[in-house]
Amino acid sequence: MISSVPRDSHYMQLPREVLIGKNVAPLIGETLTRLGFRGPVLIVTGPKVVSIAGGVVIESLKGAGFTSSTAIVESATTEEVSRVEQEIRKVKPDIVVGVGGGKDIDVAKLSSMKSGTRFLSVPTAASHDGIASPLVSMKGLDRPYSYVTHAPIAIVADTAIIGKSPFRLIASGCGDVIAKYTAVRDWKLAHRIKNEYYGDSAAELALMSSRLVMKNANDVKRLSDSGIRTLVEALISCGVAMSIAGTSRPCSGSEHLFSHALSMIAPKPALHGEQCGVGTILCADLHGANWQLIKEILHRIGAPTTSKELGIDSEYIVDALTKAHSVRPERYTILGESGLTKEAAHRVASTTGVID
Ligand SMILES: [Zn+2]
Repeated sequence: MISSVPRDSHYMQLPREVLIGKNVAPLIGETLTRLGFRGPVLIVTGPKVVSIAGGVVIESLKGAGFTSSTAIVESATTEEVSRVEQEIRKVKPDIVVGVGGGKDIDVAKLSSMKSGTRFLSVPTAASHDGIASPLVSMKGLDRPYSYVTHAPIAIVADTAIIGKSPFRLIASGCGDVIAKYTAVRDWKLAHRIKNEYYGDSAAELALMSSRLVMKNANDVKRLSDSGIRTLVEALISCGVAMSIAGTSRPCSGSEHLFSHALSMIAPKPALHGEQCGVGTILCADLHGANWQLIKEILHRIGAPTTSKELGIDSEYIVDALTKAHSVRPERYTILGESGLTKEAAHRVASTTGVID
């Protein structure tokens, strides 16, 4: 990202190449060659991922004449980012390749940005839209919920690998995409009420992704190749929508604030996208929109739609609804500036059947 954008100008940083399909992981090496990288390469990945996808990535790099080394990350914390940064300084890679789910990609994204190295994203799960966005979420940062870094130079998403990930991660990814239904409504509202910048193209791209996943819910549920592709393309489009907007606004509204609040207070939070999906049901009701449709589609996919299915007691759902507005006070949404009263929170959670 650059810091000196003139007023009334707009800076967008987008991925240059996106490769999606069955068995495309072996093409990582030639993708890097085509983009002009010469190596060495630092692979940033998780302890489990390395056994699933590490081999194919290393082989592909070797086949294209790259030398590579691997940094294993345990968690998405600032300490891990510093450790990988040190590794980057030591190895001096031409490029960082982030391989894994959200946390591995986030650490690769942030550590490469901090050390001025570009990065390639190789998602092995489709659980949220961080796989292609310039934003990271990380514990231990002063601004924990979205931190603008840089977009990946390229994305190589192998649907054969993603299709073998636990179904729960795929359902969670659907929740994160469907969430744009309320996120864009919140963004529009903030534009009307607070005169906040609103970009039609970014908003439409996020909404289209949400609509496509809803329309193809049965294919995703069946784990057909086209279903997984629809989901992965939608997640990437959401990342691009954030790159175009220069903010997470098109992809993160009241439903995300609810999910963040729930993660802070629930003893055992569910997955990000699972919570965002339930948040979308609740916040669609607040917007006077079609929450029944959201609920029906999430249910059809096999994503949680109730507190029970999230494995979280109803009191935390109500509490998170009343606290969500305070998670990020500058982000104006349907929750308003003072938030929901306990009674209103209880009403929306009961009306939508999220709690009994
Ligand atoms: Zn999200």
